[in-house]
Amino acid sequence: METAAQAATAASATGPAVIVAIDGPSGTGKSSTSKAVATRLGMSFLDTGAQYRAMTWWMISNDIEVTDASAVAAVAGKPVIVSGTDPAAPGITVDGTDASGPIRTPEVTSRVSAVSAVPEVRSAITALQRSIAAAAPHGIVVEGRDIGTTVLPDADVKIFLTASAEARAARRSGELGATASADVAATKEALIKRDAADSTRKTSPLAKASDAAEIDTTDLTLDQVIDRIVALVEEKRAAK
Ligand code: C5P
Repeated sequence: METAAQAATAASATGPAVIVAIDGPSGTGKSSTSKAVATRLGMSFLDTGAQYRAMTWWMISNDIEVTDASAVAAVAGKPVIVSGTDPAAPGITVDGTDASGPIRTPEVTSRVSAVSAVPEVRSAITALQRSIAAAAPHGIVVEGRDIGTTVLPDADVKIFLTASAEARAARRSGELGATASADVAATKEALIKRDAADSTRKTSPLAKASDAAEIDTTDLTLDQVIDRIVALVEEKRAAK
């Protein structure tokens, strides 16, 4: 538990608490960028995709048919999802069990868009996200799809990351260890399908907030993207 004196010291070292929303489709480098920005600026970090993945993993583990929206809606309030906010080791548990590994399986990845489209799932997870952001003592970098538009519309800094489908597929394939061109092509197809589902759902789809700064990361290195965002956050802190 942080004392008031510790909080004041940390706040003066890191500047005023700011909320940073980083949205965009898969493979744009959101996670690596968001973690690095949070680390550089001494802020908390929240991976909201991990929360939707955790919900999906719980549904699969409990034999809920994920394409049955009313079945998913009926139990959306049941899993207890706890997200770590340390950018060096975020972690996530569901009902007390470490879910960091299971939420990254292809089974979860292929089903998460169906689960995340269910309004009851979104309202439960959105409430969780808002409470985590409000409790972050030195500000937070929150990455997702609808953070700047719906979850935290008053965020101090809003970023929307994009990249060509080829660049995104190549990055995602690299993360998965796929090298064969057939694997890269399959990854690209799956990624386009997931983004289309996330962008066209009725409740808070993947979208750029009108006041978000768009950064096309296709031809930028990770460090270049991080530097740009850190500069924007520092500018905002100086003006606070
Ligand atoms: O970022 P990641 O690929 O882990 O996200 C997994 C899925 O979670 C997305 O494809 C999307 O369906 C859902 N998601 C969402 N809203 C967010 C973050 C993720 O619907 N803010």
